[in-house]
Amino acid sequence: MMRKQDIHKNLVALLKELRMPTARGCYREEAERSRNETLSYEEYLLEVMRLEAQSRRQNRIERLLRQSKLPQEKSLATFDLTRLPLRLRQQVQVLLEGSFLDRRENVLAFGNPGSGKTHLLCALGQELARQDRRVLFTTCSLLIQELLRAKSELKLDKALKRLSQFEALIIDDIAYVQQSRQEMEVLFTLLAERYERGSVLLTSNLPFSKWEQIFKDPMTTAAAIDRLVHHCVILELNVNSYRMESARRQSAGHLPSEAHLKRRIGGKRALEDKDEIEQARSGAGEVLAGDSARQGSPDGYEEHEAQGG
Ligand code: ADP
Ligand code: MG
Repeated sequence: MMRKQDIHKNLVALLKELRMPTARGCYREEAERSRNETLSYEEYLLEVMRLEAQSRRQNRIERLLRQSKLPQEKSLATFDLTRLPLRLRQQVQVLLEGSFLDRRENVLAFGNPGSGKTHLLCALGQELARQDRRVLFTTCSLLIQELLRAKSELKLDKALKRLSQFEALIIDDIAYVQQSRQEMEVLFTLLAERYERGSVLLTSNLPFSKWEQIFKDPMTTAAAIDRLVHHCVILELNVNSYRMESARRQSAGHLPSEAHLKRRIGGKRALEDKDEIEQARSGAGEVLAGDSARQGSPDGYEEHEAQGG
């Protein structure tokens, strides 16, 4: 019979070779427990294997979340789903099951600034990663810069191939693309490349009717929209700005009035409808709420107004 010490040494070596660190760490303690509780060999093995599988799953999910570059704080737990209309909530419930990724469907989230588009898609992304899906989050402008750099180094194919490894590519804020033709072209190439091969989840403050601002000419715009909507779920977040509402709660009465906004923006061009005023206001709410992304200019809402239409 083998000596106890030799058994231990051999087992540790084997578990190392098989890359089973959790089993290596727990098999002795579990054996002790099994003896005390007179468990069968199978029950013992089952428990050790269960612990090993569980820690592997956990590590894998942590790795997927890390690789996804998703902002940690924008989770489902911190997202107030009750702010969404029932229909939208139902759409989200279905998306959370993740089967749209198998069908390579896209998710397009539209709505005013502050309506929760980015947070919602990030929350969805996190849940998908927890279901073992490969997700990547990026802003549209970062993505374009990356693709442009790759293109100038003649490595665009490689960059696109790397992106194709992700089942879900979240492109945040497609409205804020810079205006050069080159930039539009790499974005279009990416969308064409992913068409029916992998899901794109994007957020935009711009409705399709204004996408020519992004893709410049009508043909490219139509081609891009066509590919995106062929298999897609559209989420319309027609809800008030969350930032504005929390700013309003914190500083009731300090938001600029409609007349004030008209004076501020109307110098350039009159605000035509209520929506625009609401949108301009939500920008103001963001400034009041101290949103870091657009800090530094008390005229943040003018900026929104300019970019949003
Ligand atoms: P958008 O991308 O539509 O401009 P964001 O997703 O950036 O809006 O949301 C603006 C801010 O409000 C973020 O800090 C976000 O976390 C918060 N927020 C928006 N909607 C909700 C919600 N339903 N529950 C909790 N926080 C929200
Ligand atoms: Mg956003």
